[in-house]
Amino acid sequence: MNNKKLIAGNWKMNGGLAANAALLNALNEAVGARALCDIAVAVPAPYLSQVQQLLANSPIALAAQDVSAHESGAYTGEMSAAMLKEFGTRYVLVGHSERRQYHGETDAVVGAKAQRALAAGITPIVCVGETLAEREDGKTEAVVKRQLAAAIHAVTHCVSEIVVAYEPVWAIGTGKTATPEQAQQVHAVLRAQLAAASQKADVIKLLYGGSMNAANAAELLAQPDIDGGLVGGASLKPADFLQIISAAQ
Ligand code: PEP
Repeated sequence: MNNKKLIAGNWKMNGGLAANAALLNALNEAVGARALCDIAVAVPAPYLSQVQQLLANSPIALAAQDVSAHESGAYTGEMSAAMLKEFGTRYVLVGHSERRQYHGETDAVVGAKAQRALAAGITPIVCVGETLAEREDGKTEAVVKRQLAAAIHAVTHCVSEIVVAYEPVWAIGTGKTATPEQAQQVHAVLRAQLAAASQKADVIKLLYGGSMNAANAAELLAQPDIDGGLVGGASLKPADFLQIISAAQ
């Protein structure tokens, strides 16, 4: 059983050939040949090939930020799971709140994406999380459970092969982090839901995301049901990302 924590960086729509090389060279040099936690970087699609090469001898895994819910065909602008796999993609984010919010992705679409990823041998990182209004209305648990239920339904026989990221929408890119207690409370709810669907729920990695940084990572990662982090802004700064990685070891 791999019980290492997983730290995944989400570069979002940032980067460039030179910046990617500088960032990954710095990470590779500091991490070395073996890392004590699992590490991944989710890069913009045009850079998959470049980053695949930069990570050729690295323990850092390649991740994509999105995948099509369809297998192939007339879906202009989309990338299939099989295409991502050809570039050595190990993980893919599905249902990031920015996809749900700006691209109208429904729970059912997110579930279909997770299923396509698994079928191609890629681990989906299924993102769930409530908005500020939903939290203030006392709906946090209901929202994340509904989102996770759709993903579980779509991947019924392989639930233990997904990664789940709890990312409260109000904490993403805002500098407002959930307290370790708030995050743990939701993670425990998600773990219980996974346990009802899979006998291997204890091996499923539950990541926290939302303004995780070098200063708050250790406390968040010390919570019993937080198995890693999905890191946006801080993953673009090598020193900060490396401190988060150290906190996970
Ligand atoms: C994210 O993009 O998933 C994220 C958590 O971003 P940030 O760390 O910048 O809040």
